[in-house]
Amino acid sequence: MTKVSKGEEINPKTTQYSFFGPLGTGAITLLTPAITYLLYFACPNSYDDDTCQLLQKPAFERLLECDFWKSLFDLEAFGVYLAWYTFTVVAWAIIPAQWVRGTQLRDGTYKLYKMNAFATLLMATGIAIGQIVRAGPEGFTYLADKWIPILTASLIMSVAQSVFCYAMSFTSGKLLALGGNTGSFVHDFFIGRELNPSIGSFDIKTFNELRPGLALWWLLDISLACRQYATFGRLTDSMILVVGFHGWYVFDALYNEPIILTQMDIVHDGFGFMLAFGDLTWVPFVYSLQARFLAYHPNVLGPLGVFAVVLLQLLGYYIFRVSNAEKNDFRNGKNPKNLQYMQTKRGTKLLTSGWWGTLRHPNYLGDLIMAVAWSLPTGGCTPLTYFYPAYFTVLLIHRALRDDSHCREKYGDDWNAYIEKVPYCIFPYSE
Ligand code: NDP
Repeated sequence: MTKVSKGEEINPKTTQYSFFGPLGTGAITLLTPAITYLLYFACPNSYDDDTCQLLQKPAFERLLECDFWKSLFDLEAFGVYLAWYTFTVVAWAIIPAQWVRGTQLRDGTYKLYKMNAFATLLMATGIAIGQIVRAGPEGFTYLADKWIPILTASLIMSVAQSVFCYAMSFTSGKLLALGGNTGSFVHDFFIGRELNPSIGSFDIKTFNELRPGLALWWLLDISLACRQYATFGRLTDSMILVVGFHGWYVFDALYNEPIILTQMDIVHDGFGFMLAFGDLTWVPFVYSLQARFLAYHPNVLGPLGVFAVVLLQLLGYYIFRVSNAEKNDFRNGKNPKNLQYMQTKRGTKLLTSGWWGTLRHPNYLGDLIMAVAWSLPTGGCTPLTYFYPAYFTVLLIHRALRDDSHCREKYGDDWNAYIEKVPYCIFPYSE
């Protein structure tokens, strides 16, 4: 990011809405929590073969029952969620770690970020394993069994943080996100007004992006595997694959924590409801749907099925990791593969060979291939377990369009020249 020159407004008014403006952002703010609950009630923790059918009638009938509304909140589960969140904050504070510098901000300054997410994850995993060894798999099914009240607790946390950060963004001296300063409450609350809300050296956005939500997704998966084992007396190959793949994704993200500092959420977006809810509720409770389905509907793939799914996962991971590493190295001034690049008038360079010379957003393609590999182990009984790859395709296509428009603004004609060199976006042969 280049520094604003003298006389330029540091927090310019945002003149273009994202996500179809207040109407679109308002609808997403209301609909995404509703979808998270709906995915549970359409596919509840039940051994019934008829469950997990799309838009089944009983899911809606439940809305009229008083017990249904009472089941949404539970003080004990709320306490457990708060304890979990506190654990991640305390781990951030006390585990010694390297402080890494982020990209340059518009005001010419840099922020420092403490990189101990992986250590936090190892600690949480150690505690979970310790509990399973001590009390058996039945001793770690609480998260699976208390799904809805824990989901509600995470939703309360994400709303509380979005409100807090929105209010704090009006105090003086804040650097606002370029896309979150339209003046429309609904839009800016969703997109996030302040770029990097923080309390002292604690950066709220990067903290939430990788720790309490991603690590909780992994713990929920372990709990669901324990639920399957406690009920059926064994773990199916499909459950091992799904939990293994999800765990792999989470461990990989947290192990490579510094890579996040060059990503769109951190560099461009503010911290509003979109990221708070996405990080804390959507990721753990929606992304674990395949594991939750398998906990109650075990499916056996057999050696050939396992082989095919593992092959797909490896292909997706290879594209995802290598392309992300190529860009991250390059943005940090390294070019170990001697990749070709073009110089832009803005000062930064754009890769024109390697993965970024083949496709725009090759990392999205790898991520999508993995998303399919995570759903295939659930078989073909219900389309619901394919919700993740379907939603993720829409999300990443929209994200690529948003990024293309940011890059056109940043790079002007140079971006058009890059597109001419690399015409395909995400999918080969698709512009
Ligand atoms: P990208 O990693 O694709 O980053 C886009 C940025 O990269 C651009 O703004 C530009 O920034 C830079 N860039 C673009 N083209 C080039 C080039 N040719 N050479 C060098 N730099 C270039 O975007 P995201 O942050 O969206 O994604 C990061 C990862 O996170 C992806 O792997 C994605 O799949 C994953 N992801 C996962 C989600 C999930 O829910 N599981 C959700 C969202 C993302 P600049 O030039 O300013 O450096």
